[in-house]
Order: sequence, then structure tokens, then C-alpha cells
Amino acid sequence: MENRLSLYNTLTRAVEPFVPREDGKVSMYTCGPTVYHFAHIGNLRTYIMEDVLEKFLRFLGYQVTRVMNITDVGHLTSDADTGEDKMLKGAKREKKTVLEIADFYANAFFSDCRKLAIKRPDIVEPATHCIDDFIRVIGALLENGFAYEAGGNVYFDTGKLENYYVLSNQKEEELAVGVRDSVEEDTNKRNKTDFVLWFTKSKFDDQELKWDSPWGLGYPGWHIECSCISMKHLGEYLDLHCGGVDNIFPHHNNEIAQSEAYLGHPWCKYWFHVRHLNDDSGKMSKSKGEFLTVSLLEKNGYDPLAYRMFCLQSHYRKPLRFSFEVLDNAAQAYSKLKKGFAALAEGEADEAAMAPYRESFIQALANDLNTSMALTVLFDVLKAPELSAGSKRKLAEEFDTVLSLGLLEEEKAAEVDAELAAWAEEQIAKRAAAKKAKDFAQADAIREELAARGIQIKDTREGTVWSVG
Ligand code: AMP
Ligand code: ZN
Repeated sequence: MENRLSLYNTLTRAVEPFVPREDGKVSMYTCGPTVYHFAHIGNLRTYIMEDVLEKFLRFLGYQVTRVMNITDVGHLTSDADTGEDKMLKGAKREKKTVLEIADFYANAFFSDCRKLAIKRPDIVEPATHCIDDFIRVIGALLENGFAYEAGGNVYFDTGKLENYYVLSNQKEEELAVGVRDSVEEDTNKRNKTDFVLWFTKSKFDDQELKWDSPWGLGYPGWHIECSCISMKHLGEYLDLHCGGVDNIFPHHNNEIAQSEAYLGHPWCKYWFHVRHLNDDSGKMSKSKGEFLTVSLLEKNGYDPLAYRMFCLQSHYRKPLRFSFEVLDNAAQAYSKLKKGFAALAEGEADEAAMAPYRESFIQALANDLNTSMALTVLFDVLKAPELSAGSKRKLAEEFDTVLSLGLLEEEKAAEVDAELAAWAEEQIAKRAAAKKAKDFAQADAIREELAARGIQIKDTREGTVWSVG
């Protein structure tokens, strides 16, 4: 098939034609959330833009297989392998177990995604489900000389590589590592940039989840998780790997290092990175305490899709500054769009009249995913005097398979409600079973999970009833 998309590739530092390995098929991997807290709207900017990319690939006719991990172990508070496991920190904060925290925040993440019309990837895999895969790959890296054991941990030896800094500028990154290392230096490392594949020793020895391995009871490092989960589901070659820019170094450099050392050939061809959403105090971050979530936007009266619109109005490679003022503008533009399309009567669509608009829409997104230009085309459709109401509706429906703004809303809203209702019923049944088994902690956790998605429950003599709000 014709490859029309051009995309900025962090690997080559250039906008280049996107040509997958196999004609018409795309394997796509996304770094998933670390589920120790709610996602902030910065994280969700990254997932929204990745969602648009996936949907545009499908729009162009590619068969996409998208995989995402859930980081539920091994992501330490510093990316330079020092500090405490973020999951354990979350568990302590809430006096729960790591797996309870993981379950709760993974559900909260997907609930936010649903509100923002972000499609669930085809395969979602928690890291804790793949321990055998990690152990197998780490074993192979030890055997082929790219890894070594020291002080109880297994490290990747970056000194064995000709060019470790494939994705980033060496000087900048050395500075960054220098800053981190001056806080805490791991003297087991042969090279400053070496990273842990498997931990058995950490100064935080109360790590909750540990597994047997040939190197002792321990847990995997964060980087190995993504390499293995990608290879497990997408094989030895990957077309497209995504994440936020903070993932470039060290996470994605390390993923490339270990995957290619293991496979013995180049691994992933295109690297797509979304710049950060910042607030007045700088980069939005979960560890900062107070942060903006989708629920908070809703509490302030915003439709989550207005935030999606806010993101689409900017290019993914530009840093985006959040302010309620700009969100208000986006919400107004969004409401104008929705009202405009809702007012259109159903009717005949005229293919010849529609074609140039469809072409402009494709050109905008094919040019390194220019979403703001795609929105301009959408507004042009609404205004176009030569387009019939039926043609406008048809184009909105087509464009919305990529933009997902719920432009022809009513039917969509009903679908989400049905999905939510089915999920609520399922959770209520699980809660009843937990109560019967006297597992009240689990029953409470389910109640909280329901509440996180806006569902209140009441136990009555006739059974549990629920309502939204
Ligand atoms: P985490 O849950 O911390 O592992 O991050 C999930 C995703 O959000 C990753 O792809 C990060 O690169 C991305 N991310 C983190 N902070 C921001 C931010 N302020 N703006 C946009 N994306 C971010
Ligand atoms: Zn990753």
C-alpha cells in the first residue's frame, strides 16, 4: 500500500517517510503508566497524541497491533537506578499492598483514557506477569557477555557498545547522569551509564514483590520490562515505539541497548516522542504532590474531551503550557464544533464535494501529525458553503475516527454508558463475592474503584444498587 505518513524520528533526528517492515502492517509499542498514583493530565497528553497516531495509521489502512505495558514493579524514584520503587512508595502512602495499588491505579488510568476517548491498546501487559521472560533475556545477556553480576545485582554493560547514545546527545545526557550520580553513586557499575537488569540488593530492602531467579530473590529493572514485553508480543522487529520525551534518556537508550544486544540486529525503526505539558511551576509530575487529573478537570466543570481538544490544538513536538485560560478557549472552540455538527440534518453525502476536504485532512496529519491543521480542516468543513449537511456529517464521522471528539455525540454517549454499566455490574458482583468470603478489604477496594469512576453504590435489602454522580 501507499505510505503517505511522514513522521519525526528521534533516532534519525529528521522527519522521514514512515515505511513499516511489512507492507500494510504496523507493530507499535507504547510505554505504559507507572501505576502508583493517578495519571496527571501531562501523562495523558502523551497518551492522547499516541492515540491519534494509532488511529491515523488505521485511517490510512494499516493493520496496527499495539502493545502497552503496565509498570507495576521496578521503576525507581530516580531513572538512574537509585531510590525506592515508586510502587512501594505508593503502597506505603496508602497503607495498601503493591498489587492493590497497581490494580486500583491501572483501573483509574483506563477510566481516564475512556473519558478522553483514548482507545485501549490491543494488548496490555503488566510487568509482573512477565517475570519468566525477563529472567530468560537477562540470562542470555549474561551468556553473550553484555551483562555482568556485581554486588548481588545484574547490570547491563554499556561499555560493550560502540554507540550507547543512539537517541540522545551524549554531552547533555552525561551532564544529566552526572547530576543524578552526584546524589548517589552505585559503585558496582563498571561504567557510569550501566543499568540494572535484575536487583537482589538495594538499600531499600523492604521491596514487597520479589521472585526467585538464578541470581537470587529479587525483581526486574524498569528498562528490561519494555524490551521483553515488546518482543513477547511483537517479535524481533518493531516498527514504532512511543513515549514522552523524558523516556528518551535513559529508558529508551537502555531499551535499544539491551534489545539489540540480545537480538544481534537492529530492533525498532521509528521512535515517536511527545513533548511535555508544563504548568507554571515547570514540568507536571506525579511526585510533586498536587497535580491536575481528569477528575479535577471534571470537578471544575470541564468535559474531558475539551482537554483532548486542547491537546489537539498544539503540535506534539512543541512543549505545551497548561492554563485554565487556554483550556477555556479550547472548551469554547469544542462546544462550537459540537453544536455546529449537531445542528446538521442527516442527508445525502456528495463524494466529489467531500474528496478535497478528506485530502486536506490526510495531508495535515500525514505531515508529522499536524493535528491543529486537521482541526482547521474540520472547521472549514463546518463553514463550507458547497458542502451539503449530509456531506458535512459524513466527513465529521470519518475525521472523528482519528480525532475522537465525539462530534456526532448522542450515539457515542449511549455506547460509553452501556460499557460503564456492564463494568459496574461486574464489579458489584465481584464485591458481593468478596463480602461473602469475608474479604472486606477487597470489597472496600472495589467500592473505591467504582467511586473513582463516578459510581456510587448502596447496599439495600434487595441487593446493591448503583448510580452515577
Ligand atoms: P509514567 O507513568 O511516569 O511512567 O509516565 C507515563 C507517560 O507519561 C510516559 O510516556 C512519560 O514519558 C509521559 N509523561 C510524563 N510526564 C509528562 C508530562 N509532563 N507531559 C507529557 N507526558 C509526560
Ligand atoms: Zn518503556
